[in-house]
Amino acid sequence: MIRKKILVTGGAGFVGSHLCERLLNENNEVYCLDNFFTGQKQNIVHLLNNPYFELIRHDITSPFFIETDEIYNLACPASPIHYQYNPIKTMKTSVMGSINMLGLAKRVKAKILQASTSEVYGNPLQHPQTESYWGNVNPIGERSCYDEGKRAAETLFVDYHKSNNVDVKIVRIFNTYGPKMHPNDGRVVSNFIVQALKNEDITVYGEGKQTRSFQYVDDLVEGMISMMNNTPNNFIGPVNIGNPGEFTILELAKKVIELTNSNSKIIYKPMPSDDPLMRKPDITLAKKQLNWQPKVALETGLLKTIDYFKTII
Ligand code: NAD
Ligand code: UDP
Repeated sequence: MIRKKILVTGGAGFVGSHLCERLLNENNEVYCLDNFFTGQKQNIVHLLNNPYFELIRHDITSPFFIETDEIYNLACPASPIHYQYNPIKTMKTSVMGSINMLGLAKRVKAKILQASTSEVYGNPLQHPQTESYWGNVNPIGERSCYDEGKRAAETLFVDYHKSNNVDVKIVRIFNTYGPKMHPNDGRVVSNFIVQALKNEDITVYGEGKQTRSFQYVDDLVEGMISMMNNTPNNFIGPVNIGNPGEFTILELAKKVIELTNSNSKIIYKPMPSDDPLMRKPDITLAKKQLNWQPKVALETGLLKTIDYFKTII
């Protein structure tokens, strides 16, 4: 059997560790590269005995060379508290990191997929968001290092494709949750579940009227792999990968309290600046091009995630 060699940057993070596991299960050889800024060894420790798994401590802002057939470029902190901790580093990771990984892809003729984000739409004026919408992004705000970094990365991917014929793929990922999220990651699903399990106050920012559309991690991994393997029609994206089920943050808080049988009370904290008021993917393109759509309903995914957090806190 010929195994594909696949590099996953950010492979020790939340999404990356699920992707590494799935790719190994599909008989590939997986190189997991991470600088462990937000990733954890614990996420991939169970893979270390697999002879087809290799863990590499490296920062993608420096060049990296390896023989590989495919690259999934996930390295980048994704939670607002982490990407705002060192905004210049966040921008460097998206821009210099993409240049380094695209250079590698060009050199070894690898296919390369970029984990872009619904944040490229900013605080959207179009709802739901289609890929043709250019977005409403503040270039100098708290979230800009992440949003503009990811937008610049998309530009680089498309230009390496046009100028150097690199085989690129771009997925725009909408809010994703599941087991292996870091308990102190600061994102809403992990925050609410951890607070509920500890019977602590649930911190809703603003009035909780802002909406998000939550996707279970297995659906995302399926979508990314479908996109990477979608070679015949040479579709490079960008394509939205998300679950169109839309909920207010207050609805999410109530759902988490209900599913955990928690005694927690909801409290209200100030809304962070530039926090998008609504977000919901239009996934018509993913259905048509990839024959992909999410399968896991919010309640089902939340119950699996709650079970996970019960084991670690
Ligand atoms: P995460 O923070 O758990 O994982 C990111 C990983 O990248 C971590 O392991 C981190 O240590 C690593 N990393 C960060 N900077 C690095 C660098 N310079 N060099 C090497 N490694 C580095 O986040 P996640 O939720 O798993 O997100 C993975 C990717 O998906 C990110 O690119 C993120 O922007 C994108 N994304 C995620 C979501 C989501 O809801 N989870 C939504 C949109 C986009
Ligand atoms: N949020 C909240 N309480 C929290 C964490 C987040 O009300 O403890 C809100 C946040 O203001 C945002 C939404 O939940 O409106 C999603 O936040 P997250 O950081 O998970 O993702 P993003 O804002 O990047 O979509």
